[in-house]
Amino acid sequence: MSIDASIKAFEEAQSLIPGGVNSPVRAFKSVGGTPLFITEGEGAYLKDIDGNRYVDFVQSWGPLIFGHRDESIENAVIEAVKHGLSFGAPTLAETELAKLVISFFDSIDKVRFVSSGTEAVMSAIRLARGFTGRDDIIKFTGCYHGHSDSLLVQAGSGAATFGNPSSPGVPADFTKHTLLAEYNNIESVKKCFNDSKEVACVIIEPIAGNMGLVPADKEFLHELRNLCDANGALLIFDEVMSGFRATINGAESITGVKPDIVTLGKVIGGGMPVGAFGARAEIMSKLSPEGPVYQAGTLSGNPVAMAAGLAALTKLKQNARVISVLEARAKRLVEGMQEAALACGITMQIDVRGSMFGFFFNEKPVKNFADACNSNAELFAKFHAGMLKEGFYFACSLYETGFISTATTDMMIEDTIKASAKVLKEITNG
Ligand SMILES: *Cc1c(COP(=O)(O)O)cnc(C)c1O
Repeated sequence: MSIDASIKAFEEAQSLIPGGVNSPVRAFKSVGGTPLFITEGEGAYLKDIDGNRYVDFVQSWGPLIFGHRDESIENAVIEAVKHGLSFGAPTLAETELAKLVISFFDSIDKVRFVSSGTEAVMSAIRLARGFTGRDDIIKFTGCYHGHSDSLLVQAGSGAATFGNPSSPGVPADFTKHTLLAEYNNIESVKKCFNDSKEVACVIIEPIAGNMGLVPADKEFLHELRNLCDANGALLIFDEVMSGFRATINGAESITGVKPDIVTLGKVIGGGMPVGAFGARAEIMSKLSPEGPVYQAGTLSGNPVAMAAGLAALTKLKQNARVISVLEARAKRLVEGMQEAALACGITMQIDVRGSMFGFFFNEKPVKNFADACNSNAELFAKFHAGMLKEGFYFACSLYETGFISTATTDMMIEDTIKASAKVLKEITNG
């Protein structure tokens, strides 16, 4: 297998685009190696510019639950394009997609569309602050909520729960309003509430997918809800990744915990740039132009993007059972891989939520970011490289979640398990 064309393309891209990519994780930095330049996708497959074909377990980092070039989404986009790319005026497609989204989520009465998950979360936080009249927010280490200033935060020194910027360019004056708690650790949240009486909201990925796949315990989420209520803070479920992936009616439907605001992205756009945030009417009415909290976007609710989202969610609505079919397949995949690893004397932690799957080369169960960080990164990098050579495209970081689509067949799953057995054997023997 040659990847010469990708190597050359990456060299040129690096001279023109920082790191050669338009989003850092694509650069393969944490596993070494060269990112593959893609020419096309078809169903479960990706093709690179050297003509190699891979079974794709990234699916554009989540959005493509029906795989590449799903016919109904593709046709909807082509139809929409013929009528114009953007109007900057209301369209019926926005109302239709709003109706659909609201029909899926009990906690959403009204929804606003934006163009990315980052934008959705950033706006949801502003709304929570505007609604409560408070400035501080609590987030969890290891949860990712996009790249807006107040969310690019890492643990502060010593016992402080107030965070420090995790990137140059983010003023400490902004992140001082962000308190950090540990995932699945309710005591750490209590500590935050003790440190600040001005908490506007707690934001959490109820099924975390950005430190690998680490679902929150139900009990933890219940206690979190209670703490928010006791302290007059809103609870935001960031379901940009888990929405329509882990389950069809939101994490609230499987945990029994109702959020105040939900943020969405990825699947909601069917592969086009769409994000959304929604809440009960009382909260959403604070948003401009109905209320005073400002939020806007020239391309928000873009007709082509709405058409793709509508096609994707309509198909999901009509095939709601699809999530459990995918879950069974994802489960078979990680259980097969775990068995293959064990045969080589390697302990693998696995988990599945709907079409999302996660695996860690780790001796112990992973409940939070610190646990995830104790995974064997070197082994992961070797595994990633080995699987690529065998034609299986996994996310290029151990802190990412894997995705299967409806185009991922049982046969592909079995082939992936066989390949993982071969690759792990090669790694442990050599
Ligand atoms: C991907 C993601 C985001 C950011 O979405 P973008 O579209 O990349 O801006 C926010 N929150 C979560 C949970 C995500 O997985």
